[in-house]
Amino acid sequence: MVGPVSWKAGTDETVNHLVRLIQAETVNPPGNELPVILVIKDILEQAGFPQESFKILESAPNRANLVARIKGDGSERPLLLSGHVDVVPVERERWSHDPFGGEVIDNVVWGRGALDMKGFLAMYLQTFLNLFRQKASLKRDVILAAIADEEAGFTHGSKFLVEQHRELVEAEYGLTEGGALTVYFGETKVYPIQVAEKCVCWLRGRAIGKPGHGSVPHADNAVFALAEALEKLRRAGHLPVHISPTFTKMVDTAGSQINSPLGRLTGLLHSPAVVSILLGRLKGETRNYLRALVTNTVSPTMLQAGSKVNVIPSVAEVNIVCRLVPGQTPKSVMDEIHQIVGEGIELEVVYTTDGAEFSTESPLYKLLEKRTHQLDPEGLVIPMMMPGATDASQYQKAGITMYGFTPGVLPKGISVLQMAHGHDERVPISFIETGLPVLWDVVNEFCGAGS
Ligand SMILES: [Zn+2]
Repeated sequence: MVGPVSWKAGTDETVNHLVRLIQAETVNPPGNELPVILVIKDILEQAGFPQESFKILESAPNRANLVARIKGDGSERPLLLSGHVDVVPVERERWSHDPFGGEVIDNVVWGRGALDMKGFLAMYLQTFLNLFRQKASLKRDVILAAIADEEAGFTHGSKFLVEQHRELVEAEYGLTEGGALTVYFGETKVYPIQVAEKCVCWLRGRAIGKPGHGSVPHADNAVFALAEALEKLRRAGHLPVHISPTFTKMVDTAGSQINSPLGRLTGLLHSPAVVSILLGRLKGETRNYLRALVTNTVSPTMLQAGSKVNVIPSVAEVNIVCRLVPGQTPKSVMDEIHQIVGEGIELEVVYTTDGAEFSTESPLYKLLEKRTHQLDPEGLVIPMMMPGATDASQYQKAGITMYGFTPGVLPKGISVLQMAHGHDERVPISFIETGLPVLWDVVNEFCGAGS
């Protein structure tokens, strides 16, 4: 099957759609995704997409999702392209341009969501429209899902669809954010494809002491007990190392592509003991990133104790955000924390989501890998575990194998990691132009009849 006549025209159309998506403000909370869903409805209708082939599903007032489908012959199960339409809040005064203006300046589209992930969704939408216009014959359905509430817990978006409208999103495989875009490590370009994500686990820790008057201090002060426990956690540096299949695959794949003696040393990273020693030696960002990949992480975020200045409280509490390596459980991380702080601190689970880990041996993953190498033959392509959670964690409950795949070449200076939830989020049009043909090739090769 041939591609669209001109990627230039496809890119221009994608940019026009992206501008409209950015201008429909969907900061979550509160979300308010309906206006942007109506924009997507309008784009589909303008393209002549039949009304009976898409559905808008409201999970709450103004919280809407859209699911559209192009039918294949049914000989294989569907492919899902899923992008969330909500965005995180902005600090307007820290932006150089209106975060909801959708301005295009010097071939760069500015605005909240340009990367995370309205830009990627606009590319999925373009691929979907191309398929529709070409009347492509497909062996599997291609489903496009525009999803609410990814940034604040999935309840009104992917979770709602998986629990209440599963038949609409059921698929063998799915693509969503984020992967196969350029990340720079010095001069080395890396294209990580997301295949796993950590579980979210929020805990509350509690120290119980003896109340009393502030004028007569005693040793049994809950605030001291909690502070001491937190200091023990800080000094420990990290919880025990757990080497996941994804981490092993990640270091092996990277090692096989590095043409230096260093490449052969990556095998050492299969050993938890070696990684543990390394964590003790490394510093800064590199250490933080490695720690996030191989351990259950612990970040104390909120402290509460007392309500009167001159009264020693009997209880001091801390909220702890943990991210667990796939396969680990809230109980296992609580055991690990107790090992360090002792049993004197009570721990309870406040909120948790499942992690996810998908195979890198599937035909789709192999295709994503191959096409990403073609996107940039100089880049390293590796599977990646995401420290955070995406809609993939919900879709896996419907048995869908999900990969983070939003391909394109980014110039140095545009860092997804910094911009996705930071200030001055923007996407160069060149990214869209390099990524669209890759997405097209993947969807065609994987879904086209006779392929
Ligand atoms: Zn996102």
